[in-house]
Amino acid sequence: MQLRNIIPLSLRRLLGNYCHLFVAARKKKNLLKKLQGSAVECNICHWQGAHFIDDPWHPRTVCPNCGSQVRHRMLVALLDGQSSMTELSEKKIFQGKSILHFAPERQLRHRIQRASAHYVSTDYDRGDVDLKLNMSAMPSVFDASFDVVIACDVLEHVPDDRAAIKELHRILKPNGIAIITAPQKDAPSMTDEDPTVTTPEGRLQHFGQKDHLRIYGDDLKERFDSAGFSTTVLDTSIFPSNIIHRLVLAPPILSSHPLATNQRRFYFAKKS
Ligand SMILES: [Zn+2]
Repeated sequence: MQLRNIIPLSLRRLLGNYCHLFVAARKKKNLLKKLQGSAVECNICHWQGAHFIDDPWHPRTVCPNCGSQVRHRMLVALLDGQSSMTELSEKKIFQGKSILHFAPERQLRHRIQRASAHYVSTDYDRGDVDLKLNMSAMPSVFDASFDVVIACDVLEHVPDDRAAIKELHRILKPNGIAIITAPQKDAPSMTDEDPTVTTPEGRLQHFGQKDHLRIYGDDLKERFDSAGFSTTVLDTSIFPSNIIHRLVLAPPILSSHPLATNQRRFYFAKKS
């Protein structure tokens, strides 16, 4: 008699999941052992090692322990007061504030939640959030509801991003801040969002991912300013070089992929 005839399907699935987790944990343990060292450090999980690991386009930029990427570590370094923009420390922008966090990254979620007075997570289709919202139409959210909105690498997925930016402005309180990142490639000029590119393969080729609808250019700032924001664009120039190298806030080996974003930018859009 075969095992599948005597072990119920639910138990077989459970065993399968357990085996998968076991193999993944063992692989990670071996990887961390191979990367032992102290040249770089993740400011989120505090792993230290010889170097980070590759993402598909950017060599040595991903933490092998928690999966943090450059944009996550840049925001945390900013919150930790390690930049020249000390007015953007965690205490000044999050403490006592109401925060709406789109597509909450596990590397950032708990820290932001802990720092805030009122924290709401949201996403268009994920189940592990407080609210399901379509950023370009949020009728269930009252005007001037939040002090801070965070949306890292979300706008490039939103069909009507101009409507979304207007909605962010509406739901923020006066002087509220939207903290935004988006893939932009290097030396961008204008946003590329050819509406005739509609297939997943076409989007992958033009915009870098099958579900990306555009790749932003320098005009992203104008998109926020024209909706009533006053927007500050930040890049690694606000960090000392030892912090950039230690925390890997820029790729140590530049990617030559034409759509790669080697230099990450943060947009702090203030409702004025
Ligand atoms: Zn980490």
